[in-house]
Amino acid sequence: MRPKKALEEPFEGLVIQDASFLDDLDGRSACVKCGKSRKYFCYTCYVPLPIIADRIPRLKLPFKIDVLKHPKEIDGKSTAVHAALIAPDDVNIYTFPDLPDYTQQDKVLLIFPDKKAVRTCDLPTLFSPHTSQSFEPQAKRQRPQIPFSKAVFIDCTWNQTRRIYNDERVRDLPCVELDDRETLFWRYQRGKPSTYLATIEAIYYFTVDVHTTLICAEYQHEYDNLLFFFKYMFEKIHSLYDAESLRAYKDIRS
Ligand SMILES: [Zn+2]
Repeated sequence: MRPKKALEEPFEGLVIQDASFLDDLDGRSACVKCGKSRKYFCYTCYVPLPIIADRIPRLKLPFKIDVLKHPKEIDGKSTAVHAALIAPDDVNIYTFPDLPDYTQQDKVLLIFPDKKAVRTCDLPTLFSPHTSQSFEPQAKRQRPQIPFSKAVFIDCTWNQTRRIYNDERVRDLPCVELDDRETLFWRYQRGKPSTYLATIEAIYYFTVDVHTTLICAEYQHEYDNLLFFFKYMFEKIHSLYDAESLRAYKDIRS
């Protein structure tokens, strides 16, 4: 017997908007920006198709997010675009070598398991080592404080990640390491550890961690909708394929 519940109801307990209207889409239509034929959204322009633009959830994030991707990464397989669709005011995606120069920006951190990376709960000391004593729970403050303004994620395979990480515009950023979580796709990524998260999972977990450990607020599912498309794709795959034969997963994701 396979672990039915864990596998088939991985989103149980999350509050994610119903996506069944996506099933009603009839074929493909043209992206408003590039004109290419797409199904739900354009994975090269990072915009939803007009037919669903008013129906997908939208979020405001407590900080900005940049996603850096490698040009060899296949656009249709990246989940980073999900974040740009759901939080369009706060998420930007850049393709190497066209990266921002982070040496010219303040309060930016990189989500990357560097040797010197800190945990989310240690972020206040990372940016201002002498003020950690004054970092208090929200109940004692007027407004939530987050000690950074932007989080940078790298979205590509490990070898390509190193190349971006070693870029002089990126390499001096302070690094934050996520607590280990198992990816929902762990069964289907052969040869990768189960903690190798999809980019949208990493963005989601980091945002929730910041909310609970730095803003010190009770989590009331504010960011669950970041997983709106991820959940939809996951469930669609499960409805099309038996759990034992998901090898074709990578083919339908795009
Ligand atoms: Zn487009």
